[in-house]
Amino acid sequence: MKNREHLLRIIQHHKLSHAYLFHGEAGAGKLETARWFAKALQCGAQGGEPCGTCRSCLQADGGNHPDILFLRPEKPATIGVDDIRDQINNEMGIKPYSSAYKIFIIDGAERMTVQAQNALLKTLEEPPSYGILILLTENADIFLPTIRSRCVILNFDPAPEEERMRRNPEWQEMKEHCGGVLERIGSMSLEQVYDAGKEISQYKDQIDRYLDFMLQWYRDDLLRKERGEASHCSYRKISKNITAIEEARTRIRSNGNIDLALEMMLFAIKEKESSW
Ligand SMILES: [Zn+2]
Repeated sequence: MKNREHLLRIIQHHKLSHAYLFHGEAGAGKLETARWFAKALQCGAQGGEPCGTCRSCLQADGGNHPDILFLRPEKPATIGVDDIRDQINNEMGIKPYSSAYKIFIIDGAERMTVQAQNALLKTLEEPPSYGILILLTENADIFLPTIRSRCVILNFDPAPEEERMRRNPEWQEMKEHCGGVLERIGSMSLEQVYDAGKEISQYKDQIDRYLDFMLQWYRDDLLRKERGEASHCSYRKISKNITAIEEARTRIRSNGNIDLALEMMLFAIKEKESSW
């Protein structure tokens, strides 16, 4: 919450920067805060909080705001120099369609190659007056010092798990569902995997959160391994499964076909879990 208050003050006092770096663990609220910040900036309602009812706010909620853009890399695992040139540098030169700002959000920004970071520097060095970049990352250390020095850095504390759960029984249910699916997926029939995908897509309003729970499940498995306890699968499988989950997230963000993305993810995990 302290970050939102900070951002709210930035808006109220017109002390905007051109680049922000949100740093913190998965589930710490970076993406939600970035969406809220972008929406608040574009809404322009008095007081700084987004009104939630104007055309701009509705577009932001619907994920189709023409001046709030999410970088969608060609390959899910890395953000390459072409992704930055095509989707940021070139686009940044075009004025906003309907709002005061043109806002670019790069989630998983640690995926940027060094060349991509150098390309991004061009925009960071000479941003147009309307341009705002928000980088989200779990690891700020990988960025070039020249990138970091041009960003306002906000650290996000990991939300205390139990507190979050208490406040949100639906998350508890999702987490249990997620554990149930991943526990059993290796022994599921193809039809059961298909059905599991259908069940998960019922959480589509909170699909990012669901995918976070899946990642958390595998991270916990890694921790168990490191402590020498019994775990569900090998390092290689865990890392492949994490990639499959991240790919699903990217697919959902880029084309929005949740059912298909979930099926592809579950079948990829199933394939790994069923083989040794
Ligand atoms: Zn509004």
